[in-house]
Amino acid sequence: MALLIRNGEIVTVGSRVQADVYAENETVTTIGKNLVVPPGTEIVDATGKLVFPGFIDPHVHIYLPFMATYAKDTHETASIAALIGGTTTYIEMCCPNRNDDALAGYQLWKSKASGNSACDYAFHMSVTKFVRETESQLREIVADGTSSFKIFLAYKNFFGVDDGEMYQTLALAGRLGVIVTAHCENAELVARLQEQLVAEGKTEPEWHEPSRPESVEAEGTGRFATFLENTGAAGYVVHLSCEKALNAALAAKQRGVRLSVEVVLPHLLLDKSFAERPGIEGMKYVMSPPLRAKYNNETLWSALALGFVDTVGTDHCPFDTDQKLLGKDSFVNIPNGIPGIEDRVNLLYTIGKRKRIGLDRFVDFASTRAAKLFGLFPRKGTIAIGSDADLVVFDTNYRGTVSVKTQHVNNDYNGFEGMTIEGRPSLVTVRGKVQARDGKFVGERGRGRFLKREPKHF
Ligand SMILES: [Zn+2]
Repeated sequence: MALLIRNGEIVTVGSRVQADVYAENETVTTIGKNLVVPPGTEIVDATGKLVFPGFIDPHVHIYLPFMATYAKDTHETASIAALIGGTTTYIEMCCPNRNDDALAGYQLWKSKASGNSACDYAFHMSVTKFVRETESQLREIVADGTSSFKIFLAYKNFFGVDDGEMYQTLALAGRLGVIVTAHCENAELVARLQEQLVAEGKTEPEWHEPSRPESVEAEGTGRFATFLENTGAAGYVVHLSCEKALNAALAAKQRGVRLSVEVVLPHLLLDKSFAERPGIEGMKYVMSPPLRAKYNNETLWSALALGFVDTVGTDHCPFDTDQKLLGKDSFVNIPNGIPGIEDRVNLLYTIGKRKRIGLDRFVDFASTRAAKLFGLFPRKGTIAIGSDADLVVFDTNYRGTVSVKTQHVNNDYNGFEGMTIEGRPSLVTVRGKVQARDGKFVGERGRGRFLKREPKHF
């Protein structure tokens, strides 16, 4: 069915224009004023509202066996939550562990999403070891349309790779034109510091942060950058959390390393005092890298405003309170992660506005940059003739509060509980079909498609 979004203010990187957007056969076909459209077209009046390209969350976990349990969402619940919050595409981390076969893992992750996601999706393929069959398997995965990898410098003996495996992964990625995303913390130091703290009886959630201090993340970031520099591969630091790591990344950028930086919602809005709350309240805020000293929030916002940080994801990873309690005797056993997929756009918009960050930056770090880095542009990440009609009509007059009581994510808490939002999507489309309206899912379940992506980073 054809769709006309009439008279909104269309916001893309470098442009703001009052116009109509007409979509047919899943793509935008005309942009202009006072468009005359065929009878039967669904017409949405966007007067007084903003029209953004569908937002992209470049870092989520949905199917995830981790720390003796599974993250709570399915693709059905996560995609509905995403759409209500204005995210029309997410990139999930496909995370088989060291003992799993990579190709079998890739197929398993794909099967979980297929027919279940209501929004479009893609994967970053985790490389958690490098053995004889790894190269041929990764080539097959890239040929299948998954053109980004993920490595973990942390999580020794589970997801983590050693320096040799990192080198091999980056060298191959360089040859294939694939970008490598990396979780940058020094695995050895984390393991030693955890051991030491536990031996001293320091087992409450507040000790999670000291077990992986800022310097440990800065070391991982710097080492990853040095390996990129010496292999020529393109890289992307996921969930960079603090000033020390940012400085390591910026130093690398300055000397020409092909490195991009992602921050995630929790590190912009929360700080370590949340994880210092006693017992279960603190456990809810345990993630890695951990929540940091508060001044880092401002550092990351400034870096974002200036374009030193490329994208904002969520690292969406819901574990409920029962699961968090697996770590009641030691922070080492608390499943790491916090949900965020539903609230990212609204909170970024709201706080970004308070900080006077322009809509041009907002649309870039919440949508366009991710599309460009990960081979989705201009199909996704912009509003242009020929782009997928993923559109978010945004009501800047809406006022509300983030709460577990109204969320659609499958979890029994919300880490951003009580935060106010000043604006939310009033209409969200995926390839021309209305999927969400005013905080409700109104679309077709399982409509989401796997997005095949070409390698771009030669
Ligand atoms: Zn993650």
